Amino acid sequence: MSSEYFTDAELSCRCGCGFKITNKVFLRKLDFVREDVDEPLILNSAARCKKHNKSIGGARNSAHALADPVAVDIRCKNSRLRYKIVGAAYREGFRRIEVSGKRKGVNTMAWIHVDSATEDTGHQQDVLF
Ligand SMILES: [Zn+2]
Ligand SMILES: [Zn+2]
Repeated sequence: MSSEYFTDAELSCRCGCGFKITNKVFLRKLDFVREDVDEPLILNSAARCKKHNKSIGGARNSAHALADPVAVDIRCKNSRLRYKIVGAAYREGFRRIEVSGKRKGVNTMAWIHVDSATEDTGHQQDVLF
């Protein structure tokens, strides 16, 4: 297993194709976030094959769907956990963070996206979106 806290299944594409996150630098940072937050974290989404990314309406150049995928969406249903995750993501060096809002007025889909995509793949650095 490449992460101390997240299983291969959790890091894999939800369509069942077997595509998964293997980037060691990314996984180390993700583990540091988990340790920093110091409570269990659930990943709504991790690696995505191109087909799955398209089927769920993911961004065209999504960091979840790169050849070397380096993105996760961490489930986050309350403002206290949101504060902890965002703080940890900053401290552990993530330079691209997304804080989701409600979807159709419902909070159940709320998440924090962190990714390590670089300028090389056209991803702006030091952004909170
Ligand atoms: Zn897939
Ligand atoms: Zn995401």
